[in-house]
Amino acid sequence: MKESINPYTGEKIFEFQELTSSELDEKVQEANDSFFAWKKTTFQERSKLLKAAAKELREHTDEYAKVISQEMGKPIAQSRAEVDKCAWVCEYYAENGESQLASKTIETDADTSYVSYEPLGVILAVMPWNYPFWQVFRFAAPNIMAGNVGVLKHASNVMKSAQLIEQVFLRAGFPKGCFQNLIIGSDKIEELLKNPVIKAATLTGSKPAGSSVASIAGQEIKKTVLELGGNNALIVFEDADLDATVEICVKARYQNTGQSCIAGKRLLVHESIADAFIKKFLNQVKSLNSGDPMKEDTFIGPMARVDLAKELEKQLQDSVKMGAKILIGGKRDQAYFEPTVVTDISYDMPVFKEETFGPVIGIVTFKNDAEAVEISNNSEFGLGVSLFTSNKERVNKLAPLFNEGAVFVNELVKSDPRLPFGGVKISGYGRELSEDGIKEFVNEKTVYIK
Ligand code: NAP
Repeated sequence: MKESINPYTGEKIFEFQELTSSELDEKVQEANDSFFAWKKTTFQERSKLLKAAAKELREHTDEYAKVISQEMGKPIAQSRAEVDKCAWVCEYYAENGESQLASKTIETDADTSYVSYEPLGVILAVMPWNYPFWQVFRFAAPNIMAGNVGVLKHASNVMKSAQLIEQVFLRAGFPKGCFQNLIIGSDKIEELLKNPVIKAATLTGSKPAGSSVASIAGQEIKKTVLELGGNNALIVFEDADLDATVEICVKARYQNTGQSCIAGKRLLVHESIADAFIKKFLNQVKSLNSGDPMKEDTFIGPMARVDLAKELEKQLQDSVKMGAKILIGGKRDQAYFEPTVVTDISYDMPVFKEETFGPVIGIVTFKNDAEAVEISNNSEFGLGVSLFTSNKERVNKLAPLFNEGAVFVNELVKSDPRLPFGGVKISGYGRELSEDGIKEFVNEKTVYIK
């Protein structure tokens, strides 16, 4: 049995019966049957249906946003923004997928030679709860446009969101079997990956989950894309516009109550502006509105589960034992965790070394550009980094030095359907979104005609 517990009220709100093995087999078979028809559809047909999915999302934003907020505590305004972004990614691939997958002629000694991009089949998506709609749509929209079909194993605490996502596709008019939600636990993943019908898998989540899925898929010679954790630095140089930077940094760390892989988790500030910056930063964090996620003006809700808040509390307490100093926040009440700022950080503390998946940030100062790069790169993660500076030359010089999937300047690291998204090091491999994302699960077929 899977259940959703509202982290704000502690109440059980939804309950789901897990699929039996034979029901799971039937759904996988249905996906396979569906693929053989779906891959024959034209890009125009797929595009029309994706646009209908976008319309469904836009017309019923409140219905979908409410469930996101109920299941994982996201403040309602942020849930609505998430649903809206899902509509955007559907529209983006509806409009661009065909040209991105157009065959590419390559001059050789043949009469004609070209590469075509053909769908692989049924793709398994294993997804996390933190952006319960967005994570799924950024997988589903490109893959469905490419002619693949999807089966989803969503996080156990957001199964209602998962069910509603399937509903979006059905209401939009997609054939049954094109996108299916599987109500299963992660104990069923191995069986699924070994099923010959499943051709590849993508996982967004933690390192242990990614490592397990990639190992099993590897044994079966099936491709995987892994979008794992991050420990992004926000680097504030001495010439940054302080007010604008404070605002962006607060958003980068605390939106979604800090539960984002690309959140800025380590704040690096040039020593010459540290006092002024920290003062402004603390003032802004203090002004964040915490409370009921269903209220329009709430910015910080509860974390998604009590056990996750307890894990964060332990990381903080262990760091304090090692000498970290809490400037504000630090207290937990069930799933609620106060927005917290910590200083006096050493690099072996959990709040610096590990990913903190909640509203806690550690501040470190640096003396010069080289030191900033070194501190930022001192991480086993490599998802992204944000630089705040008005010096373009510095940006051009430093950008290549970061071991990251993305470098954003004077902006928080964010996903955008038009740009590739993904990491290096233990943040994973492969890319989602953009042309790169739609080409992850296709057969790049070389055709040579003499
Ligand atoms: P998680 O525990 O790894 O769960 C993610 C998904 O994997 C869930 O569906 C989960 O199912 C499943 N899972 C867990 N263990 C598994 C295993 N051994 N084999 C197969 N599947 C397994 O991660 P989370 O706590 O939900 O999400 C937080 C993590 O995701 C953070 O590290 C965050 O940085 C990362 N994340 C990365 C990105 C990115 O794009 N790079 C985006 C968002 C989040 P159950 O729920 O049933 O356990």
